[in-house]
Amino acid sequence: MKDLFFPRCCPLCGHVVEDNAVFCEDCIRNLPRTEQAFLRSNMTEALFAHEDKFIRGAAFLFFEKEAPIQGTLHKMKYGLFADPYIGYALACEAAAEFMQSDFFDGIDVLLPVPLHPKRLRERGFNQAEWICMGLSEVTGIPMDTTHLIRVLNNAHQAQTAGIKRTENVKNIFAVTHPEELYKKHVLLVDDIITTGATLQACMKVLSPIRKCYFSVFGIGKTR
Ligand SMILES: [Zn+2]
Repeated sequence: MKDLFFPRCCPLCGHVVEDNAVFCEDCIRNLPRTEQAFLRSNMTEALFAHEDKFIRGAAFLFFEKEAPIQGTLHKMKYGLFADPYIGYALACEAAAEFMQSDFFDGIDVLLPVPLHPKRLRERGFNQAEWICMGLSEVTGIPMDTTHLIRVLNNAHQAQTAGIKRTENVKNIFAVTHPEELYKKHVLLVDDIITTGATLQACMKVLSPIRKCYFSVFGIGKTR
């Protein structure tokens, strides 16, 4: 009933959407897809090729400055009306499409890149977790938010340029009960992949776990 007075609008074009949809059908159709789930040695995988235990990686969309999707993903994370459903909806779409490839084959658990508790309190939600919920809903692969944790609150990654990003995220993650990730193929999930520094910092703490392998998923990848 509430929607009768406050109809939900597509965050990309502003048109009213029907039922429980987040995006309108036209905008979903025209998303700037990377098709990386169907391409081995894609540009997301190239960022982690030097990691021994890295299996595969893909982002759903190309993320470009000034493009409409940039503003939409900004809306997902920031501001008074930050809307984590945007990430959830995009993840559901991505999962349905990636399931037509072997991308999710063998993956045991989804691990969202954690936010520091302080930032989590400020924002009220971890967007990577909402993305995981969408992936989990469609694939049936469980999400785990307890084993990979953030121990330091680094400066905002978006405000840190170039090579400094690697330095900025060094030693900020830890694994609790690593034995529970023994023999697991985990999918590390983040919103936007830029240099891959944050995900590499996660891999650094997962690598020592015996027979633990990892893959990577992002909603967006900068070019
Ligand atoms: Zn639209």
